[in-house]
Amino acid sequence: MASPRLEIDLGAIHSNARRIVALCRSKGIRITAVTKGVCGEPRIAAALIAGGIRSLGDSRLANIHRMRRAGIEAEFMLIRPPRASMVDRVVALADVSLNTEASVVRLLSDQAMRRGKIHDVILMVEMGDLREGIMPDRLSDTVEAILALEGVRLRGIGTNLACFNGVIPTVAKMKELSQLAEAIEQRYNLRLECVSGGNSANYEWLTLSETTGRVNHLRIGEALLLGRETVHREPIRGLVTDAFRLIGEVIEAKTKPSRPFGEIGQNAFGDVPSVLDQGRMRRAIVALGEQDVDPRGIHPQTAVNILGVSSDQLVLHDTQAALSVGSEVTLDIDYRALLRAMTSPYVEKVFVAASHEDFLMA
Ligand SMILES: *Cc1c(COP(=O)(O)O)cnc(C)c1O
Repeated sequence: MASPRLEIDLGAIHSNARRIVALCRSKGIRITAVTKGVCGEPRIAAALIAGGIRSLGDSRLANIHRMRRAGIEAEFMLIRPPRASMVDRVVALADVSLNTEASVVRLLSDQAMRRGKIHDVILMVEMGDLREGIMPDRLSDTVEAILALEGVRLRGIGTNLACFNGVIPTVAKMKELSQLAEAIEQRYNLRLECVSGGNSANYEWLTLSETTGRVNHLRIGEALLLGRETVHREPIRGLVTDAFRLIGEVIEAKTKPSRPFGEIGQNAFGDVPSVLDQGRMRRAIVALGEQDVDPRGIHPQTAVNILGVSSDQLVLHDTQAALSVGSEVTLDIDYRALLRAMTSPYVEKVFVAASHEDFLMA
């Protein structure tokens, strides 16, 4: 089989979706499944929908377009604030978008009116992680500006934590979001249909807090794809964590010194390596590199240590001398490795038969 390849277990993703949808439903929370980690791969979107997902979110219009073109039927949410230069495409492709700039929402409204549509808007509030969001004391102004527009409907407010600075969506933060929602509702005498509390980092809050308050929506990517919450990166009970596996092929296997010999300058990426002398060792090279995957996020399933990686070669210490030319090495991957492997045109994507039928039956 071709390598490098990413083996994708659609049954596992389907099973994860069913479990998360059921858990969230029991707490009165609807979810949007976030597909940016898999470039909007339509077969994965279809597995999510088979698992009960009705709304798909992506940060890139190209991914939303890809899913729509493949015939995926769902609500589509653009989860990155739109570019002012792309509002026509946003209105054409997305049913709802997350926004932080009134000027852009005004453009969305103009475009929507031109198309005879209403575009839904969720306003993102800054709650400390310092990526996108309107400062809470300015939220009211923005709401007011948007309520005056005819081409958009204010569907609700939301926040995003834990992505940029690791700020945890605690019970207190979620309570604050609920209070902000209530304040807007009272001030403008309206009902916000959606209060979007966050992402996979909200798992602990979801399971531990007694009440979800006004929060009734989450945008979930990593938990669905990799089965983990994202505050501690702990596996979520009942979810599959290895739906994605990366496989590469050994192109050289030799006994060599562990220490480079010759004068040492910079390597391919401008670093000057310093390597400990461990004597001679079994070394293997896998045809896999930075252009295929982020090596910080790969974990070999067998007894090998990663010595380093260049653009297209992964060098391993083969501690058990188990590898030979042509051997395949299987790697578990985290979210950042998944992102790059899915994005790399050099990595073959292979969809494997459901290996988790037991989950499917559950
Ligand atoms: C990426 C992203 C998500 C999904 O995050 P996960 O940690 O993968 O669940 C949700 N909301 C926004 C705004 C995002 O950018």
